[in-house]
Amino acid sequence: MSNPTRQVCARCNRRGWGFWSPDRIWNAVAGVIWRNADICVFCFGELGDEKWIVWTEGLKIRPMSMKAQREFVDTLTEEHSDE
Ligand SMILES: [Zn+2]
Repeated sequence: MSNPTRQVCARCNRRGWGFWSPDRIWNAVAGVIWRNADICVFCFGELGDEKWIVWTEGLKIRPMSMKAQREFVDTLTEEHSDE
């Protein structure tokens, strides 16, 4: 069985936490370079600081432990094996 993984950041290759930012903030921070990429919240903060943007506005972070992620994936696998 392959090891289920969380999204890897396209900028720093770190396994990030899920997060959500309002479109207006996301587009301003990510810009044309990263707008359509999966970047982690740490890079999001760095880019936001570089551009002097209050990137925490409306930010929602949804951290998920590896254990919870694994159990979630196992649940999906079990559902499929019943078919
Ligand atoms: Zn990153």
